[in-house]
Amino acid sequence: MAEYITEQKTLLLNFLREHGDSSYTIDEIMEKMSELGEGTLPGKSTLYRLMNRLCDEGKVKKFAREGSRGFAYQAFIGEHCSTHLHMKCVSCGKLLHLGHEISDELLDRIKSVSDFSVSESDTVLFGSCADCRFGGKND
Ligand SMILES: [Zn+2]
Ligand SMILES: [Zn+2]
Repeated sequence: MAEYITEQKTLLLNFLREHGDSSYTIDEIMEKMSELGEGTLPGKSTLYRLMNRLCDEGKVKKFAREGSRGFAYQAFIGEHCSTHLHMKCVSCGKLLHLGHEISDELLDRIKSVSDFSVSESDTVLFGSCADCRFGGKND
């Protein structure tokens, strides 16, 4: 049973990493993965459990999705994502990595002016990426 779960967790993580530019809700993941025929799909409750575990392990980020009550999930690509801040585009869902040095600078500055220590790995800045602001890529 434990092995079975590990396998499904890997499958899920691989899927999210392959689509690292986007975030998906559990329903969307179920739909996409079954379209791709990615092996045996876990049930919805298992999927939630696996996803929570991936979030705990810091491999996946959970976002509140605008305009819905559900959450969307997105994988962190790269091994050092706990050492810098991230920015998320609310239009296209892209996750951008802020440089390690700039992240530290920013957090040090915040700490010095407000005496507040920001939790780096939990913090995501929301906004619009350059493509969405200037590119007019509407299709
Ligand atoms: Zn990162
Ligand atoms: Zn964008």
